[in-house]
Amino acid sequence: MDYDSLFLSHIQTIKDEERYRWFVNLYHQGEEFPYARLDTKRRVIIWCSNDYLGQGQNPHVIRTMQDALADHGGGSGGTRNISGTTNLHVDLEQEIAQLHKKEASLLFTSGYVANETTLTTIGRSHPHWIFLSDASNHASIIHGIRASHAQKHIFRHNDMKDLERHLRALPTQHPKMIVCESVYSMDGDFAPLEDIVTLAKRYNALLYVDEVHAVGLYGNEGGGGGERAHVMEHIDIIQGTLAKAFGVMGGYIAAQQSVIDFIRSTAPGFIFTTSLPPAIAAGALHAMQFLRHRPQLRAQLSQRADAMKRQLQTARIPFSPSPSHIIPIIVGDAQRCRHISDALLQQGHYVQPVNYPTVPKKTERLRVTLTPLHSEEMIRSFVSALQKIWRNIIHAHGEQ
Ligand code: PLP
Repeated sequence: MDYDSLFLSHIQTIKDEERYRWFVNLYHQGEEFPYARLDTKRRVIIWCSNDYLGQGQNPHVIRTMQDALADHGGGSGGTRNISGTTNLHVDLEQEIAQLHKKEASLLFTSGYVANETTLTTIGRSHPHWIFLSDASNHASIIHGIRASHAQKHIFRHNDMKDLERHLRALPTQHPKMIVCESVYSMDGDFAPLEDIVTLAKRYNALLYVDEVHAVGLYGNEGGGGGERAHVMEHIDIIQGTLAKAFGVMGGYIAAQQSVIDFIRSTAPGFIFTTSLPPAIAAGALHAMQFLRHRPQLRAQLSQRADAMKRQLQTARIPFSPSPSHIIPIIVGDAQRCRHISDALLQQGHYVQPVNYPTVPKKTERLRVTLTPLHSEEMIRSFVSALQKIWRNIIHAHGEQ
């Protein structure tokens, strides 16, 4: 067996389909965010960061992490069961539970792991579990449900009629769980959580909501889409990340005590891996407490997103009219998407192309995300550069 050829042939297919991933190597310089350096001479503005509120660069968060590093050392020293539970992990879990108004919460090493291991473990807990999963759910949800081998039904994205059609056809006595996101990562649209809650109650299903792109960002205190829609108490399991609005890394679920204790006691992705470094827990705790009392930052983010949408509209650049801070500029072709991204980088703007399988083919896009640190002037400069590149590319392809 020629192993080299085996892997290279796969890579060649990916390259042929224009899906090969080129990483842009950036030198982040804390206080300069959203600028970063490409090399000693060139600076770029980042337009695709998930550090949505700049907390990864918040000097108070950084100082807290430095102090925790000095006090507690680099790593946690083990799994949660074997010396990897510190006061900082416990304090952070209490803070998360309070934020989401749940009895308890549980930390994981990423949002991906939180979804995958929780859903797999729940799906294996009873022979008749049935998942109802939104068609646009994230890979971590899809893989978690798949690995559980439980029965699953995929309902059309945000389509309540389709969800109810599935629910109506299922046996009433079997355990069911509706799984959705509150803000969809690639389209930036919100789930109709009020309606989903109504259906979950009507059909006695548990409700699991991935709040990864909403925690810290929506709701009075940053509790996410559930808080924004005033239905947080009706969501049975809230899943979130510490890697986006909270600026560091790690994931969690928040729920009633019985759910948390069950996952804590049985989920392989929680039990068999080293816990987060204490300094990360300290940084996340600080960012979460800070953001609970900063509605003005959430308001600023929304103003900046609106400014970007207005300017794109004026420049006649097609984008999906998302109501959130995630603005997808649909290019619809992998090669063109890559060209636009490369040309923008040359002009000091960094936005990564998003291709299949992250999004369906023919919907390749530039996924623009704003932060309160992106000024109106930066937005103007981005739209002006994009407008010129867009015209040239469309011209080159002979389109109107
Ligand atoms: N859920 C959704 C909807 C996501 O978009 C992502 C990642 O972007 C995750 C989960 C995984 O979160 P993390 O980056 O913390 O692993």
